[in-house]
Amino acid sequence: MPRDMPALRKALIATAQSMQGLGINQGTSGNVSVRVDKGFLITPSALPYDRTKAADIVAVAPSGKTTGTRKPSSEWRFHRDIYAARGEAGAIVHTHAPFATSLACLHMPIPRFHYMVAMAGGDDIACAPYATYGSQALSDHALTALEGRKACLLANHGMIAFGANLEAALALAVEVESLARQYWQALQVGKPRLLTRKQMAEVREKFADYRPG
Ligand code: 13P
Ligand code: ZN
Repeated sequence: MPRDMPALRKALIATAQSMQGLGINQGTSGNVSVRVDKGFLITPSALPYDRTKAADIVAVAPSGKTTGTRKPSSEWRFHRDIYAARGEAGAIVHTHAPFATSLACLHMPIPRFHYMVAMAGGDDIACAPYATYGSQALSDHALTALEGRKACLLANHGMIAFGANLEAALALAVEVESLARQYWQALQVGKPRLLTRKQMAEVREKFADYRPG
């Protein structure tokens, strides 16, 4: 059965629409995509999510060729490049979440101050250097920052999180924003104590079988 089905378009729109209520995005900022058999489906550029219909979703082939009446998100390049480089990526969420973006404006990665940082796959959540939105340079920087990780910050811009599916990508985006807020708040009081690399490795090992019972 083809995976580019109406239900997947609906799920993509529902994910994009939920971002504002979850406090991880506002306005037409951000974008969401989901992998399909021949490329990926992505939210259109500059269209408010509450006005986005299934027919507005754009299909993008790995070559960059698009199918649809709308323009794809301006960030289609990093979505394309993440799917090409990271076989485990089934969906990608990009947002301008307030705390993650505040840290990104300071070019501050999120260090191993809390064990949940391991949810993104590494010892920290890196911050990719600044490049113009929608550019190939931004995609290249993002891919480097995502090495060994499923989330990163984008300097002076926002964040990216991906997962096996839309639910997982959205959950990780919410977690990254929560960690960014916790780190921000801890910094108001003092210097957060970091976990050791060994402690983080132990957590990642436990996460391998952390699933609903
Ligand atoms: P689009 O509306 O083109 O997806 O752009 C939003 C954005 O966040 C660009 O980085
Ligand atoms: Zn953006």
